[in-house]
Amino acid sequence: MPEAKILVVEDEKALVKVLKYNLEKAGYQVVTANDGEAGLSAFHEEKPDLVILDIMLPKKDGFEFCKTVRQVSQTPILMLTARKDELDRVLGLEIGADDYVTKPFSVREVLARVKAILRRAADKTAPLMLRAGTLEVDLERYVIKIKGKPVTLSPKEFEFLKCLLKSDGRALSRDELLEKVWGYDRSMEIDTNTVDQHIARLRNKLGSEAERIVTVKNVGYRLRTD
Ligand code: CA
Repeated sequence: MPEAKILVVEDEKALVKVLKYNLEKAGYQVVTANDGEAGLSAFHEEKPDLVILDIMLPKKDGFEFCKTVRQVSQTPILMLTARKDELDRVLGLEIGADDYVTKPFSVREVLARVKAILRRAADKTAPLMLRAGTLEVDLERYVIKIKGKPVTLSPKEFEFLKCLLKSDGRALSRDELLEKVWGYDRSMEIDTNTVDQHIARLRNKLGSEAERIVTVKNVGYRLRTD
């Protein structure tokens, strides 16, 4: 979800600046608030996809913010905690945060958490069944069927098929496929030939539906959904 909107609620201006700069650089839309009350107004007005929330805040602290938001929304919340006793409360209480990072944190770590949380959130709202022709993919049970008959795929083959189906006919480059299937950081270390090998095996297993996977010259692959 590259266009996701993130609300940063934090009273340390320097930290807000660093987070905003780096999140925007990573392709997110960023709105900020410097205290808990302004944060709640921004939350209702901006409808962010994720909130990065400091705990010690003027007016309304992060715990109160979290509780208030959870009464009306399941929007993911990443907590920033500065002290051990805060962390104990985050972990010990059912305040409804999705994850936390402890201060001082690296920007890289925050970005990784944000990405992981948004990915989980997207998976939750995505449809559980994908279809193309006689091909049927049950994302919840990890079952593939062709003309009603189950086909056994390796986990990576399954992920490839899922990515292709989800892209809705759009061509995916080998790099994109690597990133989606192996995760961004590891994609650098994996040869793009690996993609071709997996696609070849996947085509083999898809039998009568193999031709749905189309090689797009100089780009990668796409899946015919007609
Ligand atoms: Ca603070």
